[in-house]
Amino acid sequence: MAHKQCSKHAVVIGSGFGGLAAAVRLGARGYRVSVFEALDSPGGKATVETMDGHVFDMGPTIITAPFLFEELWSLAGRSFNEEIDLVSLDPFYRIQFHDGSVLDCSADAAFMRAQIQQLAPADVAGYDRFLEKSRAIFEIGFEELAHRSFDKFAHMVKVVPDLVRLRSEQSVYKMASRFFSDERLRIAFSFHPLLIGGNPLSTTSIYSLIAFLERQWGVHFVMGGTGRLVQGLVDLITSQGGAVHLNSPVASIDTVAGRASGVTLADGSRVQADVVVSNVDSIATYESLLGDLNKRRWHKRRVQRAQLSMSLFVWYFGTDRQYEDVPHHLMLMGPRYTGLLQDIFKHRQLASDFSLYLHRPTATDTSLAPPGRETFYVLSPVPNLLGNVDWMQQAERYRQAICTRLQEAVLPDLEAHLTASFVMTPQDFASRYGAPQGAAFGLAPEFWQSAWFRPHNRSEEIEGLYLVGAGTHPGAGVPGVLSSARVLDEVVDNV
Ligand SMILES: Cc1cc2nc3c(=O)[nH]c(=O)nc-3n(C[C@H](O)[C@H](O)[C@H](O)COP(=O)(O)OP(=O)(O)OC[C@H]3O[C@@H](n4cnc5c(N)ncnc54)[C@H](O)[C@@H]3O)c2cc1C
Repeated sequence: MAHKQCSKHAVVIGSGFGGLAAAVRLGARGYRVSVFEALDSPGGKATVETMDGHVFDMGPTIITAPFLFEELWSLAGRSFNEEIDLVSLDPFYRIQFHDGSVLDCSADAAFMRAQIQQLAPADVAGYDRFLEKSRAIFEIGFEELAHRSFDKFAHMVKVVPDLVRLRSEQSVYKMASRFFSDERLRIAFSFHPLLIGGNPLSTTSIYSLIAFLERQWGVHFVMGGTGRLVQGLVDLITSQGGAVHLNSPVASIDTVAGRASGVTLADGSRVQADVVVSNVDSIATYESLLGDLNKRRWHKRRVQRAQLSMSLFVWYFGTDRQYEDVPHHLMLMGPRYTGLLQDIFKHRQLASDFSLYLHRPTATDTSLAPPGRETFYVLSPVPNLLGNVDWMQQAERYRQAICTRLQEAVLPDLEAHLTASFVMTPQDFASRYGAPQGAAFGLAPEFWQSAWFRPHNRSEEIEGLYLVGAGTHPGAGVPGVLSSARVLDEVVDNV
């Protein structure tokens, strides 16, 4: 697509999925776009690392709502389906409970009913009612709320009757408990907020739409890994005439008479802009990049009261043997659920037990490891840095405990077959991505931090500044941050 020459310049700070999607959208609307990224590779949480021939996607692996990507490709005049090889996984993932029983999750309701019949026959009817309820929530929560700007209180007031009708004051776990009596099914149909940093015990039941999102558009994997999507978006931006500058941390957002006028890079150089889009965590944007500004809404006291998401401990590893029976996505549940969630979110202490998500991309794409080998990562939700865990001390002990659990449950002889190995701790989330409190998903998805209550996509503080990414509306997760960029079409002026 030919780039429309235009004098208006948009600067995007950060190249996470939210920032890259914003850049493509602004480029398609005729802005000259420059993305400034602090790291040496694009993608934010979705960057890629390689070690000993293993290709590790560092973050997102479960791709839902692919139409949000297709839209970006078509805005840039390109074909997503011709450029990206997306495979649909069915079943989506396996949940293995602590008693050894399993549930393979799929959009096929008959297949789900048959498994529930085996696990807890009395809950089959509850499954059907749960589906109906989550469809109703999805229709409001995703189709009505996720793509609206919510920068006026009137928007919020308008949706209150729906939120009351859907009983959004209930938590996701409470909602699941109304439909299922078996604790394993309560877990299976309530763990989803963890995928976006929320506590299933307190996150509003509106977020049970995530489970429905999987059913509606499927669960996909990108051949070559999620990094292909990142590279694809970077290519779209350059094909539109935009530029992605790596190793270019932004030190501050410049303002003139209450309006964003550009940015100052850490090396002191200044870049003028008509529009500034921050893909940096919203709390960090207001605390650091606009540190000197007197803020009306996101002032220091308010920011300090904000509740941030939990963090993650992620162990990336390769093996010199194959584990053919292990599914692509496995949720390996620990002995406790509600108790563990309280430890992570309330007591903020590192428990000795854990629930794990194991990713085995080589189940679908063998090219992500050398022949005969496997590539994995395993993640464990852990308290953010408010928990005062000394990760320098704990990381290796914690990794070994996870290794032992995996070895016992699904990966026999793992220790003896390890090749590549490295970890990300909450401390790394803070230092690598600049995530306040090492929170892996930014502001937690609590009711009082959602929609109008969340930092708006059109900044409340200064004109000409817009926010995209996990810390703004609608929130974390790849569909969430792509939707945040979609909202820009509503709130950013035309060139
Ligand atoms: C391990 C893990 C697994 C996940 N799995 C899934 C999944 O399977 N499916 C799913 O949908 N979601 C998943 N998520 C969530 C999802 O990855 C994130 O919510 C989403 O990618 C965040 O995108 P973002 O736009 O907020 O930007 P981020 O990814 O947070 O990127 C922000 C970028 O800004 C840059 N930056 C920060 N400060 C500056 C500065 N001053 N100057 C310049 N650049 C700066 C950072 O370096 C970073 O590149 C996962 C997250 C993690 C961590």
